[in-house]
Amino acid sequence: MTEDEIRRLYALAMAYDNRKFSEANITAWWEQAERNRWSYDEAREAIHAHHATSTEFLMPAHITGLIRQARRQPAPVAELEQLASAEPAEPERFQALVAEVADRLGWDRDRTTPDADAMSRECPHCHSRPGRPCVRQIARGHRRGELVPIANPHPSRLENPVPPNLRVVGEPRLTTEENQR
Ligand SMILES: [Zn+2]
Repeated sequence: MTEDEIRRLYALAMAYDNRKFSEANITAWWEQAERNRWSYDEAREAIHAHHATSTEFLMPAHITGLIRQARRQPAPVAELEQLASAEPAEPERFQALVAEVADRLGWDRDRTTPDADAMSRECPHCHSRPGRPCVRQIARGHRRGELVPIANPHPSRLENPVPPNLRVVGEPRLTTEENQR
């Protein structure tokens, strides 16, 4: 930061609160600007921002605080993008969640067993592999085309091809109807 820039910042502060001009104050502001690594544009923005929300007498600490706050702003956006590109939930974790939800909703064993059975088959609709949750494709936005796991398996995956009591070990599981899909 140059001396000229410090003087311009101080003049801006004077414009807001009619403070008196003093060379000692210029030196003090310059010292704070150096210690806290202000840039001219950031400090100028901070002075305007301070007076937009506060009637407190502006001190260098206000400027430093507002500059630090503004520098932290981009972080959450970067974190969000990191989350967006994160891997989908692991199947084990997903199935544990499904089981937990099922418990809370009070689903009985008869209801959850065919679901677990369905999860052990490839989904005829989305072709999710055995043990993997069903997926859907994102239609819009910057993740368009990406496959994400969905909470409920596709209905055609849930349909039991052979009633459990009639199933013979070793017999193909798919019925003719299922094959035609
Ligand atoms: Zn599916």
